[in-house]
Amino acid sequence: AQENILLTVAGVRATYNHAITALDGVSFSLARGEILALLGANGAGKTTALKAVSNLLPAERGQIVSGSIRFDELDVTRISPANLVRAGLVQVLEGRHCFRSLTVEENLVSGGLGRSSSRAEIAEDLEKIYTYFPRLKEKRRALSGLTSGGEQQMTAIARALMSRPRLLVLDEPSMGLAPIIVQNIFRTLRRLNREEGLSILVAEQNSAVALNYADRATILENGVAVLSGKARELRERDDIKSFYLGKK
Ligand code: ATP
Repeated sequence: AQENILLTVAGVRATYNHAITALDGVSFSLARGEILALLGANGAGKTTALKAVSNLLPAERGQIVSGSIRFDELDVTRISPANLVRAGLVQVLEGRHCFRSLTVEENLVSGGLGRSSSRAEIAEDLEKIYTYFPRLKEKRRALSGLTSGGEQQMTAIARALMSRPRLLVLDEPSMGLAPIIVQNIFRTLRRLNREEGLSILVAEQNSAVALNYADRATILENGVAVLSGKARELRERDDIKSFYLGKK
């Protein structure tokens, strides 16, 4: 049913500098409580699609030329990225952005500051998030810039969680990380989804991992959504493994 849909991307065409077409009529939707993976090769348009969802394209001379994006009842193109965060749509950008000169815990706290929450609430959220990321609890007093790549990616995710998202959007969380760390991160995302009801949209080049943890997936190719389906079914298809996704 319609009220079950949290995010709808419908026929979106997006360009940069009024010239390069990065998305050419892309449609997909995400149901409440679902993990949806956006798959595709380098340059297929995954990052552009995620930025469109958070209304971050204008800052890069990008624009949606046609189509629509709805988060709940909201037309995301009419709402500032900051207000989308307040509405519960929070994105972890590509490349594990965290404040390198702040401690891990200061990074996390900074994620909660957008909400008008009391110190007690922030402390409560921190403790809860540390149960999902015990490694970050151990490292809470370390400067983020001195932690490992995996810890920085976890910090970026945990910081996003501090603003209490309903939809968490992640751009290539696996990038540059060892397989065991990638598994750890995806397992944690799955737990957050199961135990907290968090909806997740994740762009990945690492299709093998993403298809293992997602409920459904949409495959982008040259700015076009060429295929959508249940992750379980897409995992079985050899043509997808070799042709669209490379042998990962
Ligand atoms: P990656 O995995 O490298 O991030 P992607 O699937 O996320 O790839 P996009 O980054 O969305 O793909 O790129 C889609 C197309 O848009 C590419 O042709 C890219 O060159 C172009 N593009 C992306 N960002 C910009 C920008 N800021 N200005 C101009 N063109 C851009």
